[in-house]
Amino acid sequence: MTVTRFAPSPTGHIHVGNLRTALFNYLIARKSGGTFILRIDDTDPERSKEEYVDGIKRDLEWLGLTWDRTERQSLRLDRYHEAADKLRAIGRFYEAFETPTELDLKRKKQLNMGKPPVYDRAALALSDAERDALRAERGNGVWRFKLDQQRIDWEDGILGPISIDAASVSDPVLIRGDGQILYTLASVVDDIEMGVTNVVRGSDHVTNTATQIQIIEALGGTPPGFGHHSLLTGPQGESLSKRLGVLSIRDLREAGVEPEALLSLMARLGSSQPVELRMSLEEIADGFELSQFGAAPTKFDENDLYPLTARKLHGLPLEAVADEIEALGVPADKAELFWTVTRENIQTRKELAKWWALFRDGAEPLVADEDKAFIAEAMAMLPEGPFTQETWGEWTKAVKEKTGRKGKGLFMPLRKALTGLERGPEMADVMPLLQQIPARKLAEG
Ligand code: GLU
Repeated sequence: MTVTRFAPSPTGHIHVGNLRTALFNYLIARKSGGTFILRIDDTDPERSKEEYVDGIKRDLEWLGLTWDRTERQSLRLDRYHEAADKLRAIGRFYEAFETPTELDLKRKKQLNMGKPPVYDRAALALSDAERDALRAERGNGVWRFKLDQQRIDWEDGILGPISIDAASVSDPVLIRGDGQILYTLASVVDDIEMGVTNVVRGSDHVTNTATQIQIIEALGGTPPGFGHHSLLTGPQGESLSKRLGVLSIRDLREAGVEPEALLSLMARLGSSQPVELRMSLEEIADGFELSQFGAAPTKFDENDLYPLTARKLHGLPLEAVADEIEALGVPADKAELFWTVTRENIQTRKELAKWWALFRDGAEPLVADEDKAFIAEAMAMLPEGPFTQETWGEWTKAVKEKTGRKGKGLFMPLRKALTGLERGPEMADVMPLLQQIPARKLAEG
């Protein structure tokens, strides 16, 4: 059975890049009737925050990305220590005492000599006595996994065949000097014990994957299938790293982006398939194929989310928004008309409030100097409310007869005087919604 996981570290809000990872893993599990695990990677007690765990869950729920169970790494520390013992027992784990400064110096020397900056394994040569002396002087060392210095190959679900020379990679530190279990160890133990069959993550993890394959094998596990999706860039190909903070799912939700818009875009962006609005995850899963995604960086423009959001809203029946419309204070008998009139003129639901305010309070009239007399005349002819859908036709007919204006010269100044806008919904539909007409005052002066 297929088992996938989304494994965020709760050290911040998840953003569009994380969503891509979550969605791909979700879709792989759902397409095959498998299991999708939400795994909270919280082995870092200082940076992990409960509010972010809650935020991640809220974001996933809002998107409809349901998970079959939650796992937390902080509750599994004993499992990681057991695995560490196993690695020690088979001679694949060693303690190293270099300080960050010493490591940095070593790296610089290597680079100066034109060599790759790979950890030189000096700690492997320490005698027991030297090790004890270093521990007494510096405290516990870090624990490094001893890589087998051979090529590590895998068939990547997105990148195709990958081959990495382990000799070009430093032996990864799996436990810090203060005893903190690091991500790589926790992740491989979880992937093995939770039976994870497929791992999709960002291409920044490719080197991790190489080392993880060896650690999994050293622990007697079978490596899952790996796929590394490209990283997102801005529309011009620029790095998104600094902007990801404002591209959090939470912020996009608050900006009024609809979940279907976000899912539809992220499930196809960077693939050979066109982006189209899909109203359910089932539909999104239908066309989803990991192999259709390319290795090249994927350009992401958050502005693309708004036309998709608007398209969703255009298709919604009143029932879907009735509560919101009622909460705005729109009278029940006007709700249907209000929605019909506004839904094609909004990009997000948030704009509904603005439209209702316009109808309720009336707009600041927009009147060109040359139209002043005309508008005053027309406003004097505007019947008392309440208006119906016939009001506009009857009124403009009368105004036309009286003033001789017609076509755009007739309708446009009236629209601008009543709505303060140059374009917008059909005026026949707008009239019955207008609760106040500030432009009436123009008839007096
Ligand atoms: N917590 C890791 C991250 O957020 C998970 C990576 C993985 O999928 O293994 O980068």
